[in-house]
Amino acid sequence: MTKGRIHSFESFGTLDGPGLRFVVFLEGCPLRCLYCHNVDMLDMKGYQEMTPNQLLQTILPYKPYFESSNGGVTLSGGDPILQPDFTAEFFRLCKKEKIHTTIDTSCFTTKKNLDKLIPVTDLWMISLKHFNEKTHLELTGVTNKPILENIRYLKEKKAKIRLRYLIIPGWTDTSSNLRALKKFAKEIRPQEVELLTYHTHGIYKWKELGKKYKLGRVKPPSIKSCLKIKEMLEKEGLKVMLNE
Ligand code: SF4
Repeated sequence: MTKGRIHSFESFGTLDGPGLRFVVFLEGCPLRCLYCHNVDMLDMKGYQEMTPNQLLQTILPYKPYFESSNGGVTLSGGDPILQPDFTAEFFRLCKKEKIHTTIDTSCFTTKKNLDKLIPVTDLWMISLKHFNEKTHLELTGVTNKPILENIRYLKEKKAKIRLRYLIIPGWTDTSSNLRALKKFAKEIRPQEVELLTYHTHGIYKWKELGKKYKLGRVKPPSIKSCLKIKEMLEKEGLKVMLNE
């Protein structure tokens, strides 16, 4: 029986998908983003193991809240894409219970893994990090090629997608990158684009782990500049949310 490596839970999340969400943070991630706010979840240490059914039993008492708010369950992390069999089986059990399923992922994986997840995933929240391959590598430790291909593949399979894009001043808000974001979002036509503003709330975790935080000098973007990006995308007929 596949077991999941679970870091922690949040029982009433409101930011990780529609309605009230039970958010499960899974341990491990294939990326190493310079700004990771959950750096304590990357290294496969200090997790608890659960079977898909054990996790389902944990969330079932919350089902009335999902039903009254059009919410459901979100698997986040880390990145659940690193545990595709557990994620697929847990979502399959959720679908049997008519619970809405959302995955919060970077989509850095194989098509084989996507195929396991597509039939049981109601919403794909995909964090796009950067459009320039070299900068993506610098920022996350991996190339963006499979990520962009996978998002196109999901679109082809008619998956519901929320594209998440973090605005990091000097990194992801350059004009060439924003042009690429606009072009890609127009091509994919996701359910919505969610713009997120860079913050440094997770720095203390880097300090606790004795790791060097390399983006220490980067400041959060101004609201004015974020609204400008939002407007640019809305002009293309895209639904855009702006969150912290
Ligand atoms: S994808 Fe998310 S969890 Fe993984 S390293 Fe990047 S910010 Fe951290």
